[in-house]
Amino acid sequence: MPALRVLSLYPELMNIYADRGNIAVLRARCEWRGLGFEHAASSLGQGFDPDAHDLVYMGGGQDRDQVAVARDMADTKREALHRAADRGAVVLAVCGGYQLLGHSYELGGEELPGVGLVDLRTAREPGPRLIGNCAIEADLGTGPRVIAGFENHGGRTYLGPGESPLGRVLSGHGNNGRDGFEGVHRGNVVGTYLHGPLLPKNVWLADRLIELALGVELEPLPGDELEQAAHESARRAAGV
Ligand code: GLN
Repeated sequence: MPALRVLSLYPELMNIYADRGNIAVLRARCEWRGLGFEHAASSLGQGFDPDAHDLVYMGGGQDRDQVAVARDMADTKREALHRAADRGAVVLAVCGGYQLLGHSYELGGEELPGVGLVDLRTAREPGPRLIGNCAIEADLGTGPRVIAGFENHGGRTYLGPGESPLGRVLSGHGNNGRDGFEGVHRGNVVGTYLHGPLLPKNVWLADRLIELALGVELEPLPGDELEQAAHESARRAAGV
């Protein structure tokens, strides 16, 4: 029986809006199917083995936590992240974690380094925080589907030419409130501003990420009524 081996990066620092709920959903959906689930963490000053994990996860964080995390991540995890992504491991990063996947996060005259896994830059520009319910249309290889959640970010993210967003904004602000893009998607690397937490409100996405991480096809789970209701309610909140 295959096991999903998940690595959380900086779980105690990057967990705004209970992003750890995403891990709980991955665990439950594996266990309900009889798949194994292993969870490890890597935090400040620690490296990780790029071959030992199928899915690397990082949640959101306050700007001050990101300052501590950004340099550490560039120093201790950049290479392992590239190697894990190159061999097809799923990398899922939400909000503050997403911002650090790119080249840099410019913040009050300071430029925090990213790990350069995807071609994007984030900057704290003048203007309000981008806050509210948000829904996007995304295709992770099984046709267009809706991802619904909640965004709250001061940073504006801009994708480089040739980089693909995770989806197009149906309702809400997305990457920068201007270009109609939300998140990033390259290979099995997925970044998004959507909290909710993300996966409890979009279990189809949790299942799809498990499929991509393990290279398997999953049967739908019976008895997903509560999960579907959570998804519908997040969509309704976003007006979609
Ligand atoms: N600190 C970042 C910003 O405000 C990310 C916030 C978050 O993870 N919600 O842009």
